[in-house]
Amino acid sequence: MTLGAFIKLFVCWLFSFAFCIGVANAFERTVDVTKKIEEPIQLTERFGILIDPTKALTIADVTAPATTAKFLPSQSSGTALGFAYTNNAVWLNFGVTNTSDQAIEQILEIAYALLAKVDFYQPSADGYKLTQLGYSRPFATQPHRSRFIVVPFSVPAKAEQTIFVRIETSNSMHIPARLWNADAFDHYEHSSYSIQALYFGIVIGLALYNLMLFFALRDVNYLLYVFFALSVSAALTGYGGLGTEFIWGDHPQLSMSSTNVFSCVAGVAILLFTRRVLNTKLIFPEIDTLISFFITANSIALLALLFWFEKFAPFFAMISGTTAIFLLLTGIIFTFKRQRSAYYFLAAFAMILVGVALGHLRNLGLMPTNVLTADGPQIGSAIEMLLLSFALADRYNRLRRENQQVQADALRAKTEMVARLQVSEQLLESKVSERTFELQLLNQKLEAMSTTDSLTGIANRRRFDTVLASEWERAKRLAQPLAVAMVDVDWFKKFNDRYGHQAGDECLRRVAQTLTASIGRAGDLVARYGGEEFAFIAPTTDGEKAHNMARRACETIDALVLTHADSVYGHITISIGIASITPRDDITVDDLVGAADKAMYSAKAEGRNRVVLAQSVVHL
Ligand code: GH3
Ligand code: MG
Ligand code: MG
Repeated sequence: MTLGAFIKLFVCWLFSFAFCIGVANAFERTVDVTKKIEEPIQLTERFGILIDPTKALTIADVTAPATTAKFLPSQSSGTALGFAYTNNAVWLNFGVTNTSDQAIEQILEIAYALLAKVDFYQPSADGYKLTQLGYSRPFATQPHRSRFIVVPFSVPAKAEQTIFVRIETSNSMHIPARLWNADAFDHYEHSSYSIQALYFGIVIGLALYNLMLFFALRDVNYLLYVFFALSVSAALTGYGGLGTEFIWGDHPQLSMSSTNVFSCVAGVAILLFTRRVLNTKLIFPEIDTLISFFITANSIALLALLFWFEKFAPFFAMISGTTAIFLLLTGIIFTFKRQRSAYYFLAAFAMILVGVALGHLRNLGLMPTNVLTADGPQIGSAIEMLLLSFALADRYNRLRRENQQVQADALRAKTEMVARLQVSEQLLESKVSERTFELQLLNQKLEAMSTTDSLTGIANRRRFDTVLASEWERAKRLAQPLAVAMVDVDWFKKFNDRYGHQAGDECLRRVAQTLTASIGRAGDLVARYGGEEFAFIAPTTDGEKAHNMARRACETIDALVLTHADSVYGHITISIGIASITPRDDITVDDLVGAADKAMYSAKAEGRNRVVLAQSVVHL
């Protein structure tokens, strides 16, 4: 089937549908109340309608035969007559007939609270009896305590009556009128109130729960959610008539504007909530700008509704409608952007739109009246709030997980850093100890160098002085003898002159080695004293023993027979002066060295190649 053919078929179907309804209307304009049926009778299609733009017509006017004839049969089907925002008064009439011989109690219900004035006229013996209803009338004077318009009336036995109803309101005029058998109405009213109680129970529970979460977590989203939930329920309180019945009573201004005003508050709250939960500023700045625009529009609408309700109310639907569509589109866009919170968000808005749509379809007669369609907005809004609460919970959960991840990452980074630091510390430590070791070696080398004679490799004068000073103190402490010898190579200048400086150096090295080998007792020290002079220290050694040591050294050098043509001996010889003493306070170490030196000069004077022991060591 082509699309064109399909549309033609659909239009034919629509026409035949309308025709059937028209025929049905013609037959059933008067309601026979004799049969006691449980189901209510829809009055929408049975009404005669007269629009009164002057608002001046009275019951006498409309019951005059000429005017009654102007009542046009209703062309609407479904559960409600709709006039949107109108400045006119609307007159409705319908017939009731009772063929039984008993009066029958009936109830006219208009299940809509936003009607300011409803005048119910029933014929009686003394003309038309008037019952005044609507939110602009005192609640206490209503014939039946109800959130909606409910008029109990009695249809006399064997009677046929025409009832007139005049309606005027500055809200959107919506007339879902039904005629009930009194008992069935009672039953219905109970279940309808329980659904309201259930709805407000859910909303209050969710609001309190999220308020606690706000106090616990200090996250503004929860507060916005609570504002949203409470303002939606406040709007529905006004819409469902519960505000007038239970909360504010006779405040027509509140009854009139609360639905629209609280819808605007809810609009602002949900826009702020959306902005924060979906993070629009960061993710989609253009949408964020639009959110600002809608927040402004809803705020202006709110003020306008508070002060100029009658003038502004017709525009309200436009603003709240576009706000809802915008939020739905935002939900869809962010769902495509794979923003998790948006899934809940979209589902939540879809829920309330489905709820409202079901309500409208029912009003248009395209869906039957049942719990789902009759209380669609309530059910939709309850599910919406649940889903938004889930969105918050999910967001909290996600943030917590992200936080845990961040903490885990930070911990891992810290551990890695600590490990790296430990490794580099170990490296540094090993480098430092390596360097320290090298330094120690170097120090030892330096120490050795500074105390060693570079030419001969034996101890130098510095070391000789240090060792002598400490041995002097030790010998003094232990009262032991200490011997010092001064050794001088004989006629060495001449050796140098004849054989050259290098041969002289070599000769000095041989003498040093030989002396060291000859004196080399543990504790003794052989040193180069300067030039071709040597010296040795022999601790715990008296003069005689030291003399023997020196003579052996002298003989050993002599035995080397290092050729020296300019010596009277024909080879290298040495002269040694010895001094030994047990140190005392009245003598210094220099006295000891001086005495040895003097003895050495004596050895020179006596012909060289000999040892002379100083007879005494005296302080000069
Ligand atoms: P004496 O028997 O009286 O000691 O005569 P001498 O020539 O040994 O004494 P003198 O003090 O006149 O000469 C010492 C010489 O030692 C002078 C110098 O040339 C030589 N001499 C000193 N130090 C060194 C050295 O390091 N290397 C060499 N080759 N010669 C040195
Ligand atoms: Mg000399
Ligand atoms: Mg000499």
